[in-house]
Amino acid sequence: MGLMTGEQYIESIRNIKMEVYMFGKKIESPVDDPILRPALNSVRMTYDLAQMPEYEDIMTVTLEDGSKINRFSNIHRNTEDLIKKVKMQRLCGQKTAACFQRCVGMDAFNALYSTTYEIDKKYGTNYYENFKKFLKYVQDKDLTVDGAMTDPKGDRSLAPHMQADPDLFLHVVERRPDGVVIRGAKAHQTGILNSHEVIVMPTQSMGPDDKDYAISFAVPLDTPGLFMIIGRQSCDTRKLEGSKMDVGNQEFGGVEALVIFDNVFVPNDRIFLNGEFEFAGVLVERFAGYHRQSYGGCKVGVGDVLIGAAAVAADYNGAAKASHIKDKLIEMIHLNETLYACGIACSAEGRPTESGAYLIDLLLANVCKQNVTRFPYEIVRLAEDIAGGLMVTAPSEKDFRDPKLGPYIEKYLRGVDSTTTENRLKILRLIENLSLGTAAVGYRTESMHGAGSPQAQRIMISRQGNLAQKKELAKKIAHIEE
Ligand code: SF4
Ligand code: FE
Repeated sequence: MGLMTGEQYIESIRNIKMEVYMFGKKIESPVDDPILRPALNSVRMTYDLAQMPEYEDIMTVTLEDGSKINRFSNIHRNTEDLIKKVKMQRLCGQKTAACFQRCVGMDAFNALYSTTYEIDKKYGTNYYENFKKFLKYVQDKDLTVDGAMTDPKGDRSLAPHMQADPDLFLHVVERRPDGVVIRGAKAHQTGILNSHEVIVMPTQSMGPDDKDYAISFAVPLDTPGLFMIIGRQSCDTRKLEGSKMDVGNQEFGGVEALVIFDNVFVPNDRIFLNGEFEFAGVLVERFAGYHRQSYGGCKVGVGDVLIGAAAVAADYNGAAKASHIKDKLIEMIHLNETLYACGIACSAEGRPTESGAYLIDLLLANVCKQNVTRFPYEIVRLAEDIAGGLMVTAPSEKDFRDPKLGPYIEKYLRGVDSTTTENRLKILRLIENLSLGTAAVGYRTESMHGAGSPQAQRIMISRQGNLAQKKELAKKIAHIEE
């Protein structure tokens, strides 16, 4: 089978009988749920764009055997692939103004490809072959895969095996000849209910006592014992009110869930790490590195939309010519392109791993993500500054459509004469959505904590920053001899 169309993708997800809960109820058809559907539409965009000739080069890859796959299932074979990945993510961010979710799988594929190769080399295990078989299945069927890393972690000062409740880190509870049984949970799972499969990885480095926690595998979303509880987002129930204007972004969104693995069976050929604890840290470092690169694409694409929205709001307010407004827009562009520059730089400086797959430059990828923990907040602050207070005080669409109230809103909330009040309200709602509505989950807090909280990057920057070499440089220039 070749690439799926967007419609085929939606139907393929509809056909998976997954267990999803929200607001205390089981959701019988997540695909048709008005709160969940916008997130599905965002993933659909990764399929739709791959069908368009003008985006073929960026969205698809032709493998050595001649088959064409979606770039979201690609193993990066050179720095050009790494750069195109970032460009693809910027494009998808521009087209959705939301998290399109499919990157976590791509980043898991690439982290596992090189890590399983190295584990097998050391231990003679069969993980690399298991993983390649799984990847081929994903590529052939054009599937979306969630990459699940974050455990609940309980008491952060304790190792996995020391926790009062052993399930606070996902682990093996039973070993059988044909596979393992898993119990635990993964938190903040981006887009898992819009995925066909989930890859599970350990959440941190592990010691010899944490062997049962050093586990990685893939299972389909309808696996018995696996279920999801949807995380709510600010303003989520606006999607139930039937107003297109008040939601800000009618078509697209993101979604996260708490995923429970309640005694889930994993067959041997779906296991990619099982007890080789010293490789847990390698896998985490690589996955996090790839995902920190990813943010130099996706957040930039969403930033493009937000900057555009702020500029349109300035036009509608009649403020576009004010020098301070122009300067604020320049600052937003500068910040956004700095993020992009980091995403491109860590890709251009990528290096091959032993497996042949390319890894980004880890120092630059961590610098990229560290900037992402800051700059979107400043871009949002400037967008709010330019938009004005009306973005949070405007009446609802119902009032706007009301025969008595509508004409007053039309009259008193009008900006420049060249556009309508309705258009002005629409653009302000989009800014609201990205700044403090449903999309702020992806653009703000996920920028802070997704792919690891700021301190995780600072640890990597301190490890990779080569301070000793810098000291030597200084001593040489200063003619210091010791
Ligand atoms: Fe992709 Fe960005 Fe969403 Fe992560 S936050 S899955 S990189 S769109
Ligand atoms: Fe993320």
